[in-house]
Amino acid sequence: MKMIGLIGGMSFESSAVYYRQVNEAVRSRLGGLASAEVMMHSVNFEEIVALQKAERWDLAAKRLGDVAVGLEKAGAACVLICTNTMHLVADEVEARLGVPLINIIDETAQALKASGAKRPLLLATRYTMEHAFYAERMRRHGVDIMVPDADGRTATHAIIFEELCAGHVLASSRQRLTAIIEKAKADGADSVILGCTEICLILDPDALPLPGYDSTTIHAQAAIDFALEAARGIKAA
Ligand code: GLU
Repeated sequence: MKMIGLIGGMSFESSAVYYRQVNEAVRSRLGGLASAEVMMHSVNFEEIVALQKAERWDLAAKRLGDVAVGLEKAGAACVLICTNTMHLVADEVEARLGVPLINIIDETAQALKASGAKRPLLLATRYTMEHAFYAERMRRHGVDIMVPDADGRTATHAIIFEELCAGHVLASSRQRLTAIIEKAKADGADSVILGCTEICLILDPDALPLPGYDSTTIHAQAAIDFALEAARGIKAA
């Protein structure tokens, strides 16, 4: 089994889900008490949030790149950035690595395509919904995403940062997100991407008005496919 390197802490609420999911996947695939070979460097999210707010993506790329190189030096055979938002700097991080960076957007696109979804609604942070990196990378795979309207984007971003990343899961916010999905369905969406690694804490992807694709689970499963050398299915974008 290969060693997985996780860049976590963004937020630790979702990193805990990754840690559980990679271990559960190994146990279910190998049986017995098998568990994942995994290392996590969990950063101080407050420092990353300050860089996000200042739009200092250059400094964020340097910081996460340093962490990724550290994981590789410590023996990681692959690296995962455990947040969709920080894939804004994935190319810069990847360029510094000699091992694969498993990209959450590529993996999510493959999952959508495998089940025939063509017009997904993206629920994510404002950075992921409004910067071009996510939509452009999806488009390379032939997937054309939709995002909520301005009010929906503001509400989703606030739910992520003020509630989910802070450990609060509120029924009223679940209803709000579900209403956003209902509206997108009426507007032509055929699926929904839980495109922030904390959204799985509040929404069950199998109990939504549209078929749900949870980026956290998809990403964690891809890491285990890699670690156990199963076919990963990513084709050149
Ligand atoms: N974990 C979230 C994501 O997947 C948000 C936290 C962050 O800004 O990195 O985008």
